[in-house]
Amino acid sequence: MQEWAGVLAGDLGEEDRLNIAVLSGKGGTGKTTIATNLSVVTAANYIDCDVEEPNGFIFLNPAQIISQAVKVDYPVIDRKRCTLCGDCAKICQFNALVKTKKEVILFEKLCHSCHACRIACKHEAITFAKRTIGAIEEGQAGDLICRRGILQIGEPMAVPVIKALLENLPAGINLLDCAAGTSCNVVSSLHYADGAVLVTEPSAFGLHDLKMAVKLVRNFNLPFGVIVNKYNGDDRIQKFCQEENIPVLGTITYQRKAAEVYSAGKVLVELSVYKKEFCKIAEGMRGVFPWNWQ
Ligand code: SF4
Ligand code: SF4
Repeated sequence: MQEWAGVLAGDLGEEDRLNIAVLSGKGGTGKTTIATNLSVVTAANYIDCDVEEPNGFIFLNPAQIISQAVKVDYPVIDRKRCTLCGDCAKICQFNALVKTKKEVILFEKLCHSCHACRIACKHEAITFAKRTIGAIEEGQAGDLICRRGILQIGEPMAVPVIKALLENLPAGINLLDCAAGTSCNVVSSLHYADGAVLVTEPSAFGLHDLKMAVKLVRNFNLPFGVIVNKYNGDDRIQKFCQEENIPVLGTITYQRKAAEVYSAGKVLVELSVYKKEFCKIAEGMRGVFPWNWQ
């Protein structure tokens, strides 16, 4: 597979970084399958931004994993200084603070760490402490760097973990395996992307949700192309892309053995038929994204 590494990385300087988001309008399209296999054929680092259920490591199986906690600020109220004026609760846009007759109560999981309450408090009764909401893990799968964010169970806000994950990405090509859908978690990842690959399937739902994903990446003004996964001869996606002048990077054929390989936790490119299809997609990506930076 290494012969394909140069197809994408060849024109990048040693310090250059090219971040390609892999997203899908809906869940179940096989986005992680596409992202992990593309990482292998293009020798791109794999970055799992689906922090609520990061499962790409199952297929790439990185070793030597190091972990770092992701922490966020939360306000701590000094009851000796607090006059119960209520200004902090009034200014909080997220209803994270409630003033009662006896105290100010914090609902820490609603807090967005904006520090507005500290600024509003005239009595200097608010300081900040930190709490852990998740972790960033990084390991190596051969020459590939694999990194993922993990949101702790019960934590509602994924964005701080995604931001921590995507700051200081390694040099080279990074494939950002985004969350499914078009939620704010995907939007947060797209802020770090130079281009996007949209994964869909040939069905009415697939097409409907692809249209939302297209609208999203167009808002970001990113170059992008579409991959049709589970292709079964239904050309509705290709027809839509032709009408919208969107490049189709390639198709991945629907076959029972793909499901068998997937269930065994392996990458599809171990099968020659899929290796061929993914390599063709890698060629297609070269035509869509602005590689030639030098
Ligand atoms: S603004 Fe300060 S003094 Fe007023 S209720 Fe909040 S913490 Fe207490
Ligand atoms: S830091 Fe911001 S979000 Fe959190 S409690 Fe204070 S005002 Fe509300």
